[in-house]
Amino acid sequence: MNTNPPAPLFARVALLGIGLIGSSLARAMRARPGLAGEIVANARTEATLARVRELGIVDRTETDPAAAVAGADLVILCAPVGTYESLAAAIAPHLAPGAIVSDVGSTKRSVIRDVGPHIPAGVHLVPAHPLAGTEHSGPDAGFAELFDGRWAILTPPAGTDDLAVARVRSFWEGCGAMVETMDADHHDRVLAIVSHLPHLIAFTICGTADDLADESRGQVLKFAASGFRDFTRIAASDPVMWRDIFLNNKDALLEMLARFTEDAQAMARAVRWGDAGYIEDKVERGRAIRRSLIELNQA
Ligand code: NAP
Repeated sequence: MNTNPPAPLFARVALLGIGLIGSSLARAMRARPGLAGEIVANARTEATLARVRELGIVDRTETDPAAAVAGADLVILCAPVGTYESLAAAIAPHLAPGAIVSDVGSTKRSVIRDVGPHIPAGVHLVPAHPLAGTEHSGPDAGFAELFDGRWAILTPPAGTDDLAVARVRSFWEGCGAMVETMDADHHDRVLAIVSHLPHLIAFTICGTADDLADESRGQVLKFAASGFRDFTRIAASDPVMWRDIFLNNKDALLEMLARFTEDAQAMARAVRWGDAGYIEDKVERGRAIRRSLIELNQA
């Protein structure tokens, strides 16, 4: 009788970037042994790699991304999306034949644009985006359950090898996520409205509050519980990550912002002219959306 444990889904997984998302993946792989035989991590700074070694969440760290990907059958870019082009150029010659290159970036057309051209023949690009996160950054912020019951969206370019897509799907399911596949264009439009625009509004409203005269600014912080506080949580996110997201989803974000601005103007008009029915209707629609989220377990 063969008593050897079954081979893991991937023999060696290389994580390029190990902050909130990368370290959560490392922890999720550790918690479910069938996913990765060996986990290798790379980051921009030695300080992060030293912390990752202290945490004991990977098997090996490498300061050079090329060394990190050597011999890996799954490479996941987990750094801000603005770094992907240079990371892809650095690792391309060192990718193992048959390897899968994936990522966790919040914008997907940019990944195909920036990473796609560097992928050698025989290597598969399967971009991915877990819809899970917090406003915290760095390897201490991650946790193994981050992806449990959350969506992971795969956006393989047309013609991508089916088996490579299926393996990435199994990987995310193994990490606890529900998986959906869609076109990168569609992903970027959906994410512009559900994530990128809300962040843009949160950063802007915090800026507006901060620009108020000194005495009003003090009152804003004192009485923040009445709505403003929820914006400050979103606005606490990492500036580099969000700079890169806005710049790499420019078209969809500007389109959604234009629509939002029109709707905000319509609300302003209703307030100015005392159109109580319009205002009530909009608030009721907001409540209905919240109720649906709770029913879908995504609240
Ligand atoms: P994070 O906690 O700030 O960590 C970023 C990691 O990337 C750090 O380990 C950093 O290294 C590394 N890094 C930065 N530049 C690098 C480079 N040139 N080469 C190699 N590594 C580099 O960020 P995160 O929240 O995990 O986000 C990572 C990715 O996930 C982003 O693309 C983001 O769009 C996506 N994402 C984030 C969320 C979220 O809620 N946070 C959700 C879904 C997807 P150092 O520590 O050494 O600087």
